Amino acid sequence: MPPTPQPAEVPGKPLVTAGRQQLLVECPHCAGVHRHLEDGIRRGPCGATYTVMTYRPEQGAS
Ligand SMILES: [Zn+2]
Repeated sequence: MPPTPQPAEVPGKPLVTAGRQQLLVECPHCAGVHRHLEDGIRRGPCGATYTVMTYRPEQGAS
């Protein structure tokens, strides 16, 4: 069996709609934008599997 390919890591862009946060990701497979409710390993509607990464907003010294 071939080794399991590592899911591509894609940044999740937080989006709050109707009080629910979603994560927008640019799919590395179909180049479309998919929405997910949580980060981690997700499968897009196109069938691609990737790891949704979230990044903390910079809390710079103000
Ligand atoms: Zn896709």
